[in-house]
Amino acid sequence: MFALQFDQLDRQAELRANPSELRELAQQKNSLILPVYHQKLLSGDNGLIWLSWNNLQNKVSTVQDKHLIYIGKVTIEGRPQHYFSYRLTKPEEFIQAFPEAGLKGLRELFPDLNETQSYLANVAIGIEHWHNTHQFCGYCGHATYSKLAGFVRQCSNPNCAKEHFPRTDAAVICAISFQDKILLGRQASWPEKRYSVIAGFVEPGESLEQAVAREADEEVGLEVTNIQYFSSQPWPFPQSLMTGFTADATHSNIRLKDQELEHADWFSRQQLIDLIANGELILPYRYSISRALVENWRSQ
Ligand SMILES: [Zn+2]
Repeated sequence: MFALQFDQLDRQAELRANPSELRELAQQKNSLILPVYHQKLLSGDNGLIWLSWNNLQNKVSTVQDKHLIYIGKVTIEGRPQHYFSYRLTKPEEFIQAFPEAGLKGLRELFPDLNETQSYLANVAIGIEHWHNTHQFCGYCGHATYSKLAGFVRQCSNPNCAKEHFPRTDAAVICAISFQDKILLGRQASWPEKRYSVIAGFVEPGESLEQAVAREADEEVGLEVTNIQYFSSQPWPFPQSLMTGFTADATHSNIRLKDQELEHADWFSRQQLIDLIANGELILPYRYSISRALVENWRSQ
């Protein structure tokens, strides 16, 4: 099990249509609200800063219900805890109100967050990003507004009134092996010496398996067979769902066809051990599905 697979969140979708009940829930003393701004979360030295509604209202003059998003309920030792996020429109007010706090991105926060916190942060960031990028109706261009606790945006043009729902972009990630070696590559923009398995977005009309086969061909010029589903992971950078696969290459001749990778090669288990020990290769972040795929291959 790796991070972001936390499954104890009860999203209580039926509550989203009941704004007065949600408002009451938000105002309960033990309900927690996480401010978000442009995919960054309010946080301090000890991780995320969750606020009560009172705290939020007392400190920030422009707080409005319409920016509140209901994430859901987590029950810990029989006690329900309700979580909300709050979409900031003027972050400077918050920074002024909470001088000990700053806005941090998930990559920076991940190492310090437990499973529950990283999962909730992921939901908060994914939906905030969707709101930011769907302020206007894609059909008619009029402004949209948030409803159903932040899970729908509706077009304000009465002749259109189209409802828009949060988007998730499907992506595939695949550990390709050939005999006793795994294929790892790196993009030029990654931190130095970081290597990972190949990944890419699913195109319209494509199955996940077809996307794996196409990415293998485009990125490294490989034909793959025996494509098997491994697991999935929400990947909030900004709104993807990574679906993980394993596959076998039919030959080992790597060609970087689309130049997405600056380097790719085959690595044996022993080579990986040596390169990592010498600091010459860094594997993906330990909570990522890419790392889980590499570890899965190493353990076989
Ligand atoms: Zn419209």
